[in-house]
Amino acid sequence: MNDFLLNLFTGTDEIRPAMMFPNLENGIVYATDTYALVAIPENELALKYGTNEKYPNAHKILDDFQKKELKSIRVNVIDLAKELTKARIEVDKDSIKCKECKGSGTVEFEYRDQQNETHYIDGDCPICDGEGSSEKDSKFARIKLSMIEKEDGTQIAININDLYFHPFQLYRLFMVASLKRIDDFEILYDPNNYGQVVSVFGNIKVLTMLYARTS
Ligand SMILES: [Zn+2]
Repeated sequence: MNDFLLNLFTGTDEIRPAMMFPNLENGIVYATDTYALVAIPENELALKYGTNEKYPNAHKILDDFQKKELKSIRVNVIDLAKELTKARIEVDKDSIKCKECKGSGTVEFEYRDQQNETHYIDGDCPICDGEGSSEKDSKFARIKLSMIEKEDGTQIAININDLYFHPFQLYRLFMVASLKRIDDFEILYDPNNYGQVVSVFGNIKVLTMLYARTS
């Protein structure tokens, strides 16, 4: 099962082929796509992993972080799942919106009379029949979690206290917790630098880049 987790963290970028595979270093297997890094002890994995000299120095990245004076937050996995569901609903609501009337169901019609005068009238959008949504896009389940996007194009992250996460990062933490069958886990952060956090799931550690820095 833990081998499956490595997959959630490997990169898919062929420009950095080393990161497409997990890497063994001093008894710990690491996987990273540069946005997050997972560390799992070799003896908790079923498969064997090799060592690539070109791999990022993952062990040092984690050690350096843990040398700092860190604060911690406990996260309840059920609460986390609820937040993720909300993110999904927001994204889905947005993506099924009718593009013609932008989800309002109403468009403006123009009529020119015999005196060549123009009249305007609001009516049901002919593309979605006034529904405001396009059905055909909603039938497929999307697995990838996107950022929640507002009308004006700004994107929202999910926050836990004053830490802001991309929903996909939290989804990965949720998957680790689920597979480890734990009810809550600890997130360690540096109150002086909100760049990254480390989440601890027993012997498994996950380093995650945060979405935004707060003041
Ligand atoms: Zn419409």
